[in-house]
Amino acid sequence: MKAEEHLLEVKGLRKHFSDQKDGPILKAVDGVNFHVERGETLGIVGESGSGKSTIAKMIMQLEKPTEGEILFHGKNITSLTNAAKRKLQIIFQDPYGSLNPRMKAKDIVTEPFFIHEKMPKRERYEQALKLLQEVGLDKEHLNRYPHQFSGGQRQRLSIARAIALKPDLIVCDEAVSALDVSLQAQILHLLSSLQKTYGIAYIFIAHGLPAVRLISDRIAIMYKGEIVETGTRDEIFENPQHDYTKSLLAAVP
Ligand code: ADP
Ligand code: MG
Repeated sequence: MKAEEHLLEVKGLRKHFSDQKDGPILKAVDGVNFHVERGETLGIVGESGSGKSTIAKMIMQLEKPTEGEILFHGKNITSLTNAAKRKLQIIFQDPYGSLNPRMKAKDIVTEPFFIHEKMPKRERYEQALKLLQEVGLDKEHLNRYPHQFSGGQRQRLSIARAIALKPDLIVCDEAVSALDVSLQAQILHLLSSLQKTYGIAYIFIAHGLPAVRLISDRIAIMYKGEIVETGTRDEIFENPQHDYTKSLLAAVP
């Protein structure tokens, strides 16, 4: 890796929506720059509607940028091979929306292998068990369907699937926002320990500062489609520069 090459680099990223032709333009993301290094966590915090998920979707190529580019390992994400794409994963707020309700846990967590490489049944079972155990689930969960898990367990299941292919970066879009505070802490702890084990980097998106405090090395503050301030965790918490950041901090209990 070249010295100046970041794991992920986002340059001049914009996404403008217009519902009707010639209708008003919504600048959901309006000229955003940031980078993420290997093994670090960048928190992205901003109120609802500030453009966080739109950034996540552009990184995952679910939305096409109006302008700007996203580099992963120095290459434009639009030119990534399938092998490179598997190193970039996402976890959503509500795993219900991303887990197939008709698939058993063992098939959900090993589906990424199935897409990218063939695997004998026995090995698939062993991999599934290993993945479930890594996120604090067990043998008894192998044959359950998503609706048979609690909210926290379901998020563990989506984490197990995200780490199946040993990604370099996981985008966590409000991954703990739907969970109560004690479960949030458990999931954050799990993500941190997986980070230590595998050197995974995270983009950790949340609408408030408390959720990102534990896990972030650096934090970017979003307001109305723009990043208004980026700093280390200590800089943001102890010496905020922007008024919006100050207002977010005032809301921290
Ligand atoms: P956040 O995740 O920070 O809550 P989003 O990125 O989901 O914000 O949304 C930013 C803005 O873009 C919102 O006003 C939202 O309504 C709008 N938006 C998001 N996706 C679309 C879309 N596909 N079409 C039109 N507007 C959209
Ligand atoms: Mg969102």
